[in-house]
Amino acid sequence: MALIVQKYGGTSVGSIDRIKAVAERICRARTGAHDIVVVVSAMAGETNRLFKLAEQLSDSPHPRESDVLAATGEQVSAALLAIRLQALGFPTVSFLAHQLKIMTDSRHGAARIKSIDCSRVLRALEDGNIVVVAGYQGVTSQGDITTLGRGASDLTAVALAAALRATLCEIYTDVDGVYTADPNICPGARRLERISYDEMLEMAGLGAKVLQLRSVELARRFNVPLVVRSSFQESGEGTWVGKEDQAMEDVLVSGVTLDQNQSKLTLTGVDDRPGLAARIFGPIAESGIVVDMIIQNASADGRTDVTFTVARTDLRRAIELVKMVANEIGGPGVRYEEQVAKVSIVGIGMRTHAGVAAKMFRVLADEGVNIEMIATSEIKVSVVVNSKYGELAMRVLHDAFLGKAADTTSGETA
Ligand code: ADP
Ligand code: ASP
Ligand code: MG
Repeated sequence: MALIVQKYGGTSVGSIDRIKAVAERICRARTGAHDIVVVVSAMAGETNRLFKLAEQLSDSPHPRESDVLAATGEQVSAALLAIRLQALGFPTVSFLAHQLKIMTDSRHGAARIKSIDCSRVLRALEDGNIVVVAGYQGVTSQGDITTLGRGASDLTAVALAAALRATLCEIYTDVDGVYTADPNICPGARRLERISYDEMLEMAGLGAKVLQLRSVELARRFNVPLVVRSSFQESGEGTWVGKEDQAMEDVLVSGVTLDQNQSKLTLTGVDDRPGLAARIFGPIAESGIVVDMIIQNASADGRTDVTFTVARTDLRRAIELVKMVANEIGGPGVRYEEQVAKVSIVGIGMRTHAGVAAKMFRVLADEGVNIEMIATSEIKVSVVVNSKYGELAMRVLHDAFLGKAADTTSGETA
């Protein structure tokens, strides 16, 4: 019997009616003679609501307690779904992370899964149950509850699919697949039938939250067949995420992403001498803050400006660290912009094709959008622009590279 892991996100289980609808879908899959393991997120908005409660009590809740709190959201939805499935006559058992020994390190709020013990799930399946698992959570070797990062029920699902060697991992959400751009921002976006792990990885890392970044990483590492589908529609092919093939390589740009959760910091008037970049970025790296783009402007008088971006959630800590270093090295100025937009184009066809970046810059220039920073990799080009032009930039780039009139194959434009 095929084993399928299905994951339902927050909006998919966001109300009693939605839980009923999802339960019916699961029953149909079960009746189709599949073993089913279901991973659920908290009901829509619940995780944010929980964090806000804590914020009203403390400026800096201890991460251990935040995790105890945040993990309750998934406990509720897992239990409610199991209750409904049982009411429909399907034997079901729900599990929290500690019951399945989803072991993680102790980085509260961003814990990494080390191992999963599948024996209890397998026994429950053998006994004829549907298994429902609370996503997003883990447990340390000390027995403390952890959470795996925002959006990480996807990761729970992929990790379980890999550990159980599932035939398929289905991610059910509120859109019917992965689109060429966020369909809620870009009306012209099209659903992709397939996308490679590498492209999906870039898109997830660059702001397309339809799949959580680390879940894609894990799916690629363990070759988990992944499909993204809508839980709001009866049928639909969705988008398959898998290994790349020739047809995928022929596509120049697969997607455009927008990340509005970036901040920009600038140190002005830094002495231009060896070792200073290490002094600035060392403490930031040590505190676990990921620096994304960096530019350094050389100047004539032996001084330079260093500008870099971090995730907005890391801005406060980054400012503190940078001010500390600035004092130590003779007081360069520190400026920051709390919200900037990072707009990116992604496609494996870029590996073998020149001129994509130039076209991107031209399209933005024609629209009067100023580019503040640029970063490229083999399969993506990202630019930072003023946050108020983020959506506009995304739409014009989508039109230019992926719109109806655009030439989308790398072959024809070579
Ligand atoms: P869930 O709660 O089911 O995990 P998410 O909100 O995390 O759902 O992810 C689905 C959302 O991702 C969509 O509603 C859509 O706005 C957004 N999204 C961003 N980029 C894309 C994209 N390229 N394709 C599809 N959806 C995208
Ligand atoms: N409930 C968690 C969150 O909101 C995990 C998830 O939805 O995947 O981030
Ligand atoms: Mg999600």
